Formats: sequence, structure tokens, C-alpha cells
Amino acid sequence: MSFARPSVALLGATGSIGTQTLDVLRSQLGAFELVSIAGGQRVGELAAIAREFRVGRIGVLADADREVLADLVSDDVDIVVGSAGLAELAASADIVVNAVVGFAGLPVTMAALGAGKRLALANKESLIAAAPLVRMARETPGAVILPIDSEHCAIHQCLASSRGEPGHPDVRRLLLTASGGPFRGWSAQRLATATREDALHHPTWSMGPKITIDSSTLMNKGLEVLEASALFAIDVERIDVVVHPQSIVHSMVEYVDGSIIAQLSKPDMRLPIAYCLGLPGRLDHAWGEIDFTQPLELTFEKPDREAFPALALAYSAARRGGAAPAWLSAANEVAVEAFLADELAWSDIVATVAAVMDLYVDDPLDSLEDLVENDAVARQLAHGILKKQP
Ligand code: NAD
Ligand code: MG
Repeated sequence: MSFARPSVALLGATGSIGTQTLDVLRSQLGAFELVSIAGGQRVGELAAIAREFRVGRIGVLADADREVLADLVSDDVDIVVGSAGLAELAASADIVVNAVVGFAGLPVTMAALGAGKRLALANKESLIAAAPLVRMARETPGAVILPIDSEHCAIHQCLASSRGEPGHPDVRRLLLTASGGPFRGWSAQRLATATREDALHHPTWSMGPKITIDSSTLMNKGLEVLEASALFAIDVERIDVVVHPQSIVHSMVEYVDGSIIAQLSKPDMRLPIAYCLGLPGRLDHAWGEIDFTQPLELTFEKPDREAFPALALAYSAARRGGAAPAWLSAANEVAVEAFLADELAWSDIVATVAAVMDLYVDDPLDSLEDLVENDAVARQLAHGILKKQP
């Protein structure tokens, strides 16, 4: 007797989450079938992954990439292009891993949910920007979002103690942990001297450049507050951030009876990825094991909201709702790109986002077209503000 293996689409296959997903698949040979991959660049790497896993369909950014790739893979590989290609791949697998970075991941999220698939979501930006639309798309029979983001994956596990009623009446609050990033404890004066190299040096996690910069400004944690609110349908006033420099406790749920349930492991994204692939069971391969025969220090402190204003900006965007989170995320993407290109000082990343948010006018966000337009406007405003920088 043979059982069909779940098929997997891995979109954003060449990045940090993408390559760690491949590690998990290698640890489970024969359990999953990787049917499609996609990436923004590094066509040669896509070809190598396709050969190793005998992948039949590949998504690339542009027609020029398709031509390069066609020479590197066998003739029977189907190559699709652009965001329409991403959406096509996302609608045709049992499990869709969205490991694309930024707003470019939106077609993956919407197509996977629209087709009633399991969405293993690393791409927080799409969920944050499209929250009202995602809420509707999740109603599609079969559609489910499982969070790869380690904090949200932890909360997903901690919520197993909840009765799961709408509004989570037995949950007092979600406690998102934050490493604090490379600048934890830095004064505002010292932060003014922060360089790109300082910001790219994360103390506990090794990740792609965008999220690493987001971690240095705490915008990543701000985005994660919005992500948690959208994922678990819980108001941001019941979500708190706790700095935990060791990144061992990945997040916690506090219940109304005072009980706190936490999820622990060493920082290793392959654990949450494996959780999202394996549910309802657990894949039999341990990642991030803790050795309790060695001393283990777990400390907690409150975030410095003055030195890191990104947190307050995110809470404020959440309270405004509608397209405000989309603006926050779009402006942040533009500012982070400028910082990575050495065109902006570190402290001006969040200042740019704040300046864009000052211009936001309430929009309830009722369609995908509306979202794409809001994203474009916020980007344009951010670019305009950047041009005025000295
Ligand atoms: P990364 O920069 O390492 O990889 C991004 C991937 O997306 C690459 O494969 C790239 O080719 C692809 N890509 C970029 N633009 C694309 C486009 N237009 N079309 C198709 N593919 C495109 O980023 P990452 O660190 O792996 O992060 C991916 C997502 O996961 C982000 O949303 C991030 O916030 C989230 N996340 C990452 C981590 C981590 O540990 N890296 C942890 C939690 C959440
Ligand atoms: Mg995270």
C-alpha cells in the first residue's frame, strides 16, 4: 500500500528560510515531494535545488531569468515568471512555504489561501499589509496559516492549552519575546553612530539582510505584534513584548488563571519550519536541542521604547487598522533598502517610516487593488522623504 506524499511549494527557496526548509526536507527523505521552487535571483542556485530534489516547476523574476535557467535544467521543467507565476505555484501544492521577503510575497499568501492550501508562512509582510483581505481568504475551505516566524510558531504551540474559543477568553495576553537585537542597551547618543556592519551583526539569529536590519531597529518586533494580532485574531492591547536576549524562550501565552505556557529551544528556524510541515504530528528529527546538564541563563527585561520608537509606531498602525499596517511595512521596506545601500543613517530608518505614517489618511482596505495602490503610495512618499535627506 502506498500513501501520497504531501507536495510542497517552496517559494523564496534561495534565501535564509528557503535553504533551512531544504535542510528539513533532507532530514525527511521520502516524506514530502518538493514540486516547485521560486526565487528572486541566483538562478544557478535554483537549478541546483531543482536537480537535487527533481523539482518540476520553477518560478523566476523575469523573462531574462527564464532564458538563463532553461539552459541549466532539463527540458521537462516548467518555468513560470513573475508574480503571476508565484501565484500559480502557490495554488498547486498541498503545503506552500512562503519564504519570499517583503511585499513581493503577497501573491503567494493570497493564492495559497484562495486555493485552500496549508500556508507555512515566513513572509510576515504580506499578512501584515493584507490583514483584512487575508481574514476573508482564510475562510476558503482547507485554507490554514501555520506560522514559521519563531515567536508565532511558539504561540501557536502554547495556544494548544486554550479552549480556542473566538476572542480567546481564557488568554490574558500573548508575550512576544525579542532578543533586543545588536543594539540592546545602546543609548540614543551611541545609536546615532550605528553602522551598517553593526546593524547586520545579529547576536543570536543568522537571517536575511532585511529582517536583520528590522531586528536592529525593533521594527521586526513591531511587525510581529501586527502579525500576531492578525494570525490569532487578538487585539494588540493584549500583546506585550518582552526582551529576552538568549532567544531560548520563543514566546509565551499568559492565561487568565495566571499560568504561563512557553515554548523553548535553542534558536534554530528549522524547528518552526519542521513544525509547520509536520502538523498535526511532529517530524522525528530534533532541531535546537537544549542541553540541561549545562548552565542555562534565561533573563527578561522590558524593551526601551524611547530608543526604539518602531514599537510604538507599529502599535499605533495596529490601532488605526485598514491600510495603516501596509503603509508602515511599505515605508519600512523602502527605508531599509536605502540603509542597506548606504544611502541612509540607521536612526533615519524609523524616522522615515514615522514621517510617512504622519501622512496616512484612513483607508479601510477593501480589495487587493486598493492594497496595491496603498503600497505604491506609501513607497512613493517614502522615496520623496529620502530624497530630502542630506
Ligand atoms: P532572504 O533575503 O534570505 O531570502 C528571500 C528569498 O525571497 C530569496 O530566495 C529571494 O530570491 C526571494 N525573493 C525576493 N524577492 C522575490 C520576488 N520578487 N519574487 C520571488 N522571490 C523573491 O530572506 P529571509 O531571511 O529568508 O526572510 C524571508 C521571510 O521570512 C521574510 O519575510 C522574513 O521576515 C521572514 N522570516 C525570516 C526569518 C529568518 O530567520 N531568516 C525568521 C522569521 C521570519
Ligand atoms: Mg521572529
